[in-house]
Amino acid sequence: MNYRSIKGTKDILPSETPLWQFVEQTIRDVFHQFNYKEIRTPIFESTALFLRSIGELTDIVGKEMYTFEDRSHDSITLRPEGTASAIRAYVQNNLGEALPLSKIYYIGPMFRQERPQAGRLRQFHQFGAEAVGSPTAETDVEIIAMTIEIYKRLGITNYSLQINSVGDEECRPRYKEILKAELLKIADKLSFESQKRIEQNPMRVLDSKDENDKTLTASMPLITDHLNEECAKHFERVKSLLTAYGIPFTVNGRLVRGLDYYTKTAFEITSSELGSQDALAGGGRYDLLVKELGGKQTPSVGFAAGMERLMMILEKKGFQPPKQSPKIFVAAADETAREWVLQTTMKLRSAGIASECDLLSRSLKSQMKEADRQQAQFSLVVGSMELESGKALLKNLTDHSQQEILLSDIVTIINT
Ligand code: AMP
Repeated sequence: MNYRSIKGTKDILPSETPLWQFVEQTIRDVFHQFNYKEIRTPIFESTALFLRSIGELTDIVGKEMYTFEDRSHDSITLRPEGTASAIRAYVQNNLGEALPLSKIYYIGPMFRQERPQAGRLRQFHQFGAEAVGSPTAETDVEIIAMTIEIYKRLGITNYSLQINSVGDEECRPRYKEILKAELLKIADKLSFESQKRIEQNPMRVLDSKDENDKTLTASMPLITDHLNEECAKHFERVKSLLTAYGIPFTVNGRLVRGLDYYTKTAFEITSSELGSQDALAGGGRYDLLVKELGGKQTPSVGFAAGMERLMMILEKKGFQPPKQSPKIFVAAADETAREWVLQTTMKLRSAGIASECDLLSRSLKSQMKEADRQQAQFSLVVGSMELESGKALLKNLTDHSQQEILLSDIVTIINT
């Protein structure tokens, strides 16, 4: 029988992992430089957590979650995003007690049953961060600046940042009523998807990808004109700080995110290097979520970004991660030297030097071919003659220079 990976999932092969590891390390470096600490939460959680946090009316909860009953008949869901779990862990472990502001990050797989296409998978990876416990616009901008720093660090310049304010529990319901009234006037002309959204989620109609919907809603009132004083002030401060930090942005009054928990700032980073799935990262403020999940009122802000889409851009640019090749290939010229070769390779590895030797009893010629294929920096060929004299030729396979060395010095020489 032929087994195949499940639709929408992908093996990350040994030829691809060096790039993944390099990118993950860059991301971790940036997070650590901004003083965010990693949190690792379980891959599955109670379904109720996601219903409560992401919102029952969102696409994620409505049609994309991998939900199943386990043997105890509990409803379990594979996490579709990271924030809900991070905040559940924050509340459960009283992280707020130790620190007034918890700065946490995560990297890991997420699961959504979407229609697979380029840049859209069913198991994909996100990295993201949450600053839990601060109401200030400075924190929103730190999160945005950190997201952008990651792309900059990886040489990605072709992106754009859109921001919006989605208001709070006071001004948003008021605005939604105004918008709903306007949308109802043209309801029969809107796409079926948008018609369904008018009642429960009218702001999503403004974000519709349907061209006819876009034209019909072109002059609809926008939330940015209906913010209360506090939200408007917060939004102004975010904009002026972004400008002060030299981070270009555009205000998109139609930007809403696919999760219900956002308040005030919402942002999205897109790249024209990607196809129709052009969103690289998104985030925003969520002042009500911690309380919603059983904690104290704790204003927070965060972001999540997709790894696969970032990889797509890097691969397109021909980005080469540092090589993970052995520093030295130790070859046996004849049978008598095989044991010495094995032992020396082990010694080199114990000294922290990536080393390789032949495990397939191959001829010297094949071993040398393998050393080239592995892109080893050096090779050392040892046979009975070399063992007798205690000396051998160390070849530099990059510049083709060579030097005679004492076999007993090999670890010291390679280490310098
Ligand atoms: P979201 O949690 O929906 O705001 O998504 C944040 C980021 O995760 C997006 O901007 C994408 O880069 C990435 N992402 C979301 N869904 C998928 C998916 N199904 N496949 C690959 N990447 C995704």
